[in-house]
Amino acid sequence: MSDASTLSLWLPPFVNRLGLKIGLTVGLVAGAGALIPPGWPIWIPLLIGLGLGAVTYAAAHYWLHRRLTHVLNTLRQIRQHSFETLSAPSGPHGDELNTLIWEVYRTGQTLQNEIQDLREMESYRREFIGNVSHELKTPIFSVQGFTETLLDGALEDEEVNRSFLEKILHNVNRLDNLARDLSAISRIETGEMNMKSEAFDLDNLFDDVIDSLEIKAHEKGVALQKNVPSTLPTVYGDAERIQRVIVNLTDNAIKYNEEEGTVSLQAQQVGSGDIEVRVVDDGIGIPSEHLPRLTERFYRVDKSRSRNQGGTGLGLAIVKHILGAHDRDLHVESQPGEGSTFSFTLPTAPESTLQPA
Ligand code: ADP
Repeated sequence: MSDASTLSLWLPPFVNRLGLKIGLTVGLVAGAGALIPPGWPIWIPLLIGLGLGAVTYAAAHYWLHRRLTHVLNTLRQIRQHSFETLSAPSGPHGDELNTLIWEVYRTGQTLQNEIQDLREMESYRREFIGNVSHELKTPIFSVQGFTETLLDGALEDEEVNRSFLEKILHNVNRLDNLARDLSAISRIETGEMNMKSEAFDLDNLFDDVIDSLEIKAHEKGVALQKNVPSTLPTVYGDAERIQRVIVNLTDNAIKYNEEEGTVSLQAQQVGSGDIEVRVVDDGIGIPSEHLPRLTERFYRVDKSRSRNQGGTGLGLAIVKHILGAHDRDLHVESQPGEGSTFSFTLPTAPESTLQPA
């Protein structure tokens, strides 16, 4: 074997080595065969051997060389990640070599997609870490600044010490909100958040949401209402997660509202038999160009307003994830200056999941 390899080193590059080996083998066998009939002059087996060897070499060159070179080039392009220059074969039909060329090409495509996914994940990860550190910096700097000012003497100044402490609390609350939302997002994305499926009553759930946000709404001068028909069927899903969705939407409806505004939690059965949940406000509204990006992490229409209100920019991303796990979408309609409606649907509970009355 090492002899053959050494020999092939001496051959010029245009010589098809595989063709040469096959041609030599066929030529030798044919020539040896032609020696068997007695009485033939020596040049006949020589001629037969040479002729058949040459024809076999030419055939091997024609059938193998071009296509093996294609496989080689494709593999080289894959190794160098030059996926855009890969040329597509017509398909896996024909002989085994065609199938091989097709498989190599498909392998290249799969690798290209996987590399693309990895690059996207990497750039998403970098962007996410950048966003998180940016979100952390501002409240941390504020807490540091106010604490230092208090320690430097402002603690004794009756006019400012209380408001500085309130500002510190506000920023610590922002950090707390961020830590909670980040932990929720990461649990959802790593699949640790196992969704439950249970029958539950939306009317009761609305009451719990209103109870938990009543003080906040009162402080902002916003009225919370609910509108649920008494005949509303029981719905089906993960009650705790759906409560989180409605809390996030209601919390936003309060935050992005004005004094004397109203937020209404509504539910009604729609044509498909599903129950539509709507959180309607008459607050500041959202310009239409922002609507498609609202559920992206850290996307905010008005950054300073969101931060002042303790917003993390993650609330709607969490909503989208939870609804996605229920196979549902979030819909938004909004008019700047008039208000917004966030809605989604839930299935009614199957008969078998209902508790007997
Ligand atoms: P945030 O923590 O900033 O509220 P969200 O993901 O909950 O983050 O919302 C993203 C952005 O969508 C908000 O910053 C705000 O600009 C806009 N938004 C959400 N809900 C409303 C609403 N009901 N009215 C007006 N704007 C809203």
